[in-house]
Amino acid sequence: MTEQKTTSISKRDFLQTLGMIGGSAAVMTALNGFDHAFASDMTAPPELSTSGNGKKIIVLGAGLSGMVAALELSKKGYDVELLEARDFAGGRTSCSRKGTKVTHATGETHTCDFEHGQYLNHGAWRIPGQHHSTLHYCRTLGVPLEVMLNHSSQSYVYSDSIEGPLKNKRIRRIHMEADRKGHVAELLAKCASGGALDDMLSAEDIEKLLTYLKGMGLINNETFEYQANQVRGYSTYKGAGENYGTLSEPYGLSELLNLNMETRELTSDHPTCMFQAVGGMDAVSFALRDALPRGVMKLNKEVTKISQTDDGVSIDYKDTKSGRERTTTGDYLISTIPFAVVTEIENDFSADIIEAMKTPAPSQVAKFGLQMKTRFWEVEDMIYGGTSATSMAGNIAYPSADLHGTNGGVILASYLFGGRSTNFSAMNMDEKIEYALSIGEHIHPEKYRENFNGKAAGIIWQDEKYNKSGWSSWRGDSIKKLPTILKGENRVLFAGDCIAPRLSGWMAGAIEGAWLTIAELDKRVGMG
Ligand SMILES: Cc1cc2nc3c(=O)[nH]c(=O)nc-3n(C[C@H](O)[C@H](O)[C@H](O)COP(=O)(O)OP(=O)(O)OC[C@H]3O[C@@H](n4cnc5c(N)ncnc54)[C@H](O)[C@@H]3O)c2cc1C
Repeated sequence: MTEQKTTSISKRDFLQTLGMIGGSAAVMTALNGFDHAFASDMTAPPELSTSGNGKKIIVLGAGLSGMVAALELSKKGYDVELLEARDFAGGRTSCSRKGTKVTHATGETHTCDFEHGQYLNHGAWRIPGQHHSTLHYCRTLGVPLEVMLNHSSQSYVYSDSIEGPLKNKRIRRIHMEADRKGHVAELLAKCASGGALDDMLSAEDIEKLLTYLKGMGLINNETFEYQANQVRGYSTYKGAGENYGTLSEPYGLSELLNLNMETRELTSDHPTCMFQAVGGMDAVSFALRDALPRGVMKLNKEVTKISQTDDGVSIDYKDTKSGRERTTTGDYLISTIPFAVVTEIENDFSADIIEAMKTPAPSQVAKFGLQMKTRFWEVEDMIYGGTSATSMAGNIAYPSADLHGTNGGVILASYLFGGRSTNFSAMNMDEKIEYALSIGEHIHPEKYRENFNGKAAGIIWQDEKYNKSGWSSWRGDSIKKLPTILKGENRVLFAGDCIAPRLSGWMAGAIEGAWLTIAELDKRVGMG
């Protein structure tokens, strides 16, 4: 498969121009008109032409990808054996909830003690409406969904690493966003009306641009000065009778330029309104697990060797409970074991395949949650879902479920990447908690620490023996190695989100990776 060229140069130029003028909303409106550029491609599993009778397929790894492959092949009458090393199905689509054990790199095994049915999604936590394949299984397997509030305009941004009046100050996103747009609209309108764009736009288009900028409702129609208004909101809120409220005062442009964070527009697969499985994203894994025919999935089976002949495959595995070693054989193999792990298992793959699987960079990512006694962020800060951002340690995400619930909630207090997640990994549990609290209390002084009920849990994906990374990052030219992996070897094929570079780190990538691979298997079986 070659990288899909969904965006031609002229289209990209057009979109960039439109983005500069109209922001992401305008870009997305235009994209919808083109071809849903960022949506996942497949809406339903492929129609398989072979019946599967008499053929045995071994599938390695019972994450979403392995379970989807096993489910769809079983439906066609294939004899499927699904081997999973862990004692649960779901892999990265799993949660910490009361009783979940995670062993950290420090050697501590921590047992989650969250109360009141609360949970932390270890991996997958949000589904965009355009991920047809994920929604296909949620719909057809009856996984209840609820709205996941991905963006809250009332949440905060905080930086300790800038100069000027905004340093060490929590700033409402709505203020930052309205002021940025207002100042840019003012500058652009002044440039357009003053002739600075005459070489780039016709007189007619300049008029239309000015009409558009004035239509945003942020600048004075005559002077083009930015005027903060109800878009930005109030410093004292309006109410009944003669309480007209007091409009808030904008930040200056140069202060905001100093801030220089949270500037990137969210991609279309991160809209404000997303979806989540009710009660935790592991519900998607459980639904797939429960849909599998009895006996297909075997837990606690750690694959230790993969070998193939001209007409079959042979897999050695160890039962992690009994320690017993076994060998199983089949006609074909689909491995969904993450590349960073499968390349370390004894195998007879070609050097090309191994090299290709080592090409995408394994990402380092940690997630850590703190349970809070009350939902102070809702009652006191008007924050419902969404994230606050800090310059020190990324984002803090507020739960979207159980709004106004009386049992508090679990805040995703640390969502860390790269070096930050490595440093976090080296901390013991008490240090992890202290680190997470020390970040959050900048955003919610006096409330964060005093509301923490002492219960915390999380995972560091690069430290997980059966994952060794959050996902595979295919950057730049690395993508050229993908076709080698997609071709697989004679009797061995690969799946997982790692074969879906543009959906890597998404459940849709795991599912569509499985769909792509079972379609390829179908072809091979059909050819005999
Ligand atoms: C931090 C994070 C955030 C994410 N956020 C989102 C999100 O918001 N939305 C979204 O849609 N997706 C998200 N994802 C991505 C999503 O979780 C994954 O794409 C998906 O779960 C991957 O499924 P998989 O089956 O390809 O891999 P995995 O779930 O990793 O499954 C591989 C399986 O192989 C097993 N295995 C490994 N070694 C062996 C062995 N030797 N023998 C037998 N079995 C073995 C593992 O135990 C595992 O169960 C996120 C992922 C992470 C890490």
